[in-house]
This record gives sequence, C-alpha cells and structure tokens, in this order.
Amino acid sequence: MKQLHDKGSVKMTSAGWTIDAVELGLLPDIPVEHIYYQDTSGRTLNMPLIMYVLRSGGRTVIVDTGGPADEEKILRMTPFGYVVPESNRIDNVLDRIGVNPADVDLVINTHLHWDHCSNNNVFANAEIVLQEKELAYAHAPCEAHMPAYGFHADEAPIFSLAEDRIRTVDGSCELAPGLGVVPLPGHSPGSQGVRVDTVAGTFVITGDCVDTYRNFDESLPSGRFSDLDAYKASLAFLRETGWTPLPSHDPKVLEKGQFGQ
Ligand SMILES: [Zn+2]
Repeated sequence: MKQLHDKGSVKMTSAGWTIDAVELGLLPDIPVEHIYYQDTSGRTLNMPLIMYVLRSGGRTVIVDTGGPADEEKILRMTPFGYVVPESNRIDNVLDRIGVNPADVDLVINTHLHWDHCSNNNVFANAEIVLQEKELAYAHAPCEAHMPAYGFHADEAPIFSLAEDRIRTVDGSCELAPGLGVVPLPGHSPGSQGVRVDTVAGTFVITGDCVDTYRNFDESLPSGRFSDLDAYKASLAFLRETGWTPLPSHDPKVLEKGQFGQ
C-alpha cells in the first residue's frame, strides 16, 4: 500500500469492519490496453477475479461475486477463457474462510459485468445492492458492451439469476454503520465504490474504476469504459477522499489478503 491515510477523514465509528480479499479465478494473459488506457506496449497481465468479504460483529457482507466456474459457461463469457481451480470455486472459498452463504444478508455489486456478479445466486438470503443507473443500463447495453454484461442470444444475462433480490440506490448512501457506497461512473454508467471504515482507516473497494494500483497511482483509466470523462472524474474523486483503494483485479491485493485489522 503506497497511499497514506488522511487520518482526519477517517470516520470514527463503533463498527470496525475487517476485509478479506479472496480469489475466484484468473483471467490469464489480458492485453494491457484493456487495463491501461492507450497502452500499446503489447504486454499482457494476469487478472484475478476478486471477491471481498467484510465482517463486523456477527455480520458478513460480500462485495462482488466473480464469474461462473463451469467450463462451458466460462467460454461463453470470454473467448480468452479463464481459470478456476477447484480450490477457488466459490463454495470452497467460502468454506475455507468460514462463511456460510445462507448467513449473508447483503451483497453489493460494484457493477453488473459478468466477472463481478455471476455468483449472486449463491447468497440465497441476501439483498443485492447496486446503482439504479447500472441496472437500467444492464438491461439494454449498447452492442459493444453486451458481452461484458453476459448477454447471449438464447439465455438471460447472468445478473438476472438473483434479480428479484436486487435493491437499487441512486448516488451515495450508507448501508450500515461504517459501510456505504459512492458512485464511480465511467467504466460503466452505474459503477460504484464501497467505502469501508476499519480500525486501520477507511478503504474503498473500487470495482473496475481501479483495476490495479497503477491505475490509481497514475490516475489512469482502463481501456474499458462507457464514458472516459466521467471515468477520469471518478479517479480524481477517489484521490481526493484519501481513502485507501482496493482494486478489482490486482494480484497484489491477494498477496496481502486481509485489510483493516
Ligand atoms: Zn467491469
């Protein structure tokens, strides 16, 4: 973590959350122009799919739920394919970190791209919170964005698996003591960040507004966006908050694994 906390901006609350970052699969050899705007170096990077598990008192909240793990569905989501070892299947991951999915009452999706919401249905008792604008756009994305939302001609998009439990919000709001969401549009129209207050300061789970720490450090959008100006404004807003970013696809997040303790 290179960013320093602005201690003055840390909300003192009785709700000290802890944060676990866990891997739900790996997108191998992604061309960097997808991750860093106008990077024409031709390099590739491996991008893990990360789920965040927040705990406070007896409560567990999940942020983003990864992609499908079955071979056939994987190939439908991306022609590159991606890898989900047995140990990184969501059921095994939850088991390993001591979370019973039936006990989770809140899931937050940073946005509805398939690699962030495909396992929402695993949390059968959870309310699913996202931005109103994201749900509206996900129902009718432009053709170029359809694959990202998991649209296929003969099948409902994957976010619809648990759509009856979705609650939309419009803009910033508090969801629990020490836990809130802030709009971060640009990567997608209704992308949002999740602000988490911990005893070690305030973190923000960025979704794909920040794929990797480099995107944040250099205020560099990724190559995947719906509105580039909005994207740059969201990155500028994040820097102003002084919150510590937790990117969506950076292997360094998983090397540390735990935050806020
Ligand atoms: Zn995305």
